[in-house]
Amino acid sequence: MGTGPAGGSAALKASASGLKTLIVDRKAEVGVPIRCGEGTAEDVLKDFGIPVESGLVRNHVNAGKFVSSAGSEIEIATKQKGLILNRENFEK
Ligand SMILES: Cc1cc2nc3c(=O)[nH]c(=O)nc-3n(C[C@H](O)[C@H](O)[C@H](O)COP(=O)(O)OP(=O)(O)OC[C@H]3O[C@@H](n4cnc5c(N)ncnc54)[C@H](O)[C@@H]3O)c2cc1C
Repeated sequence: MGTGPAGGSAALKASASGLKTLIVDRKAEVGVPIRCGEGTAEDVLKDFGIPVESGLVRNHVNAGKFVSSAGSEIEIATKQKGLILNRENFEK
């Protein structure tokens, strides 16, 4: 089912329900290479019952800036507690 967020969370749920679970991915190593900005919110992890712990989190953030290749910029302040995942560890 793949080891991204969708496959990983489906596998966790299946395993927690007592099913014998095997996850298969075409990549040689789970979580590598990372093709993601790794930005999300603490509430998202809490919704999935995932602990907000240092091995899974690179940084806590309360604002962000998006910069286009043409140089335009948009700044946003988050209402929720934002964080940058360590997605390699997160997927493993
Ligand atoms: C440049 C970039 C930046 C991003 N930044 C953010 C961000 O900051 N915050 C955020 O929330 N989201 C971000 N995203 C989006 C986020 O990465 C995706 O929404 C998320 O990865 C989707 O999860 P998924 O499990 O559906 O798919 P994926 O993460 O793509 O996982 C699918 C897995 O299935 C495997 N697979 C596919 N086909 C097969 C097959 N036939 N056999 C075996 N294995 C297979 C793949 O190797 C992969 O590991 C970003 C995406 C990109 C491209």
